[in-house]
Amino acid sequence: MEAHCLAQGKGLSKTFPVKGQKKGTVLHAVSQVDLTIYEGETLALVGESGCGKSTLGRLMLGLLAPDQGQVFFDGQDLAALSPGERRALRRQMQLVFQDTAAALNPRCTIEGVLAEPFRIHRLCPREEIPRRAEALLEEVGLSGELLRRYPHELSGGQRQRVVLARALALRPRLVVCDEPVSALDVSVQAQMLNLLDDLQRAHHLTYLLISHDLSVVRHSAHRVCVMFLGRVCEVGPTRTLFQAPRHPYTRFLLDAVPQPDPTTRSQDRGILTGEIPSPVDPPPGCRFHTRCPYAREKCRQEVPLLRPVGPGQVACHFPLGEERSQ
Ligand code: SF4
Repeated sequence: MEAHCLAQGKGLSKTFPVKGQKKGTVLHAVSQVDLTIYEGETLALVGESGCGKSTLGRLMLGLLAPDQGQVFFDGQDLAALSPGERRALRRQMQLVFQDTAAALNPRCTIEGVLAEPFRIHRLCPREEIPRRAEALLEEVGLSGELLRRYPHELSGGQRQRVVLARALALRPRLVVCDEPVSALDVSVQAQMLNLLDDLQRAHHLTYLLISHDLSVVRHSAHRVCVMFLGRVCEVGPTRTLFQAPRHPYTRFLLDAVPQPDPTTRSQDRGILTGEIPSPVDPPPGCRFHTRCPYAREKCRQEVPLLRPVGPGQVACHFPLGEERSQ
């Protein structure tokens, strides 16, 4: 059976004005990106800080308007909807981000935090809210006793679970998890990732998992999308991408992950040299060419388009594993 496309971005671009620079200077956060998220999957967005992952996640949720391109959710073009229709659709998409201090009102008890979506969206009669809030807490593995506590009285892991519980109140179909475990201790990270997996199975959730941590991605994602300087370099099934990356930048990211066992370290470890390109003035052609050890003249002149290579897609004129005689 063909997988159902739940959300799709087509030709998405987004720039932001740069303060303190001459008028008209912009930062190219996302450039000409196509992205498809299938229902029930976890698609990871990876890349170094500043590569445009979080901006792309917010574009897919309709929290930011693209300069160019379209976002479809369940086949509906977000830009073509009335404000009321968009609000209704937005209930099906939620964002969970790492900064729980910003996500949780410190003056609100946990019950108050969890009651908010029920009150705003009038999901149930007022007297039912405490029971529904307690059920949500239990769903994320927390005791109902925490309802009367304040966010600062909870651990970081507990606060992250509360944020997740609040997102689940609206029974979303797509949850964008922006660095969901990066603020947590390593010992707590695995529990949180397991919880995300359990909730996905229980509610048939779809995740867009934004992470700079490849071990998190390897654990949780079905597919991975690698970004560099606002563009997609490679998309593919997690196992294939980790075993045989086809884009030189994906290879570099994987090589940069510390390997405790020296026998498993890559002999041909990629070390990047060359000028670090700027998102304010990205280089022409392939944006990775100033750092890529395989760059040739064509790379400096032509933008490589995403094309099928093996089971995935790669935006490179000379993908790894292909004959390099062209
Ligand atoms: Fe390297 Fe050229 Fe491929 Fe870009 S297109 S990653 S510069 S080989």
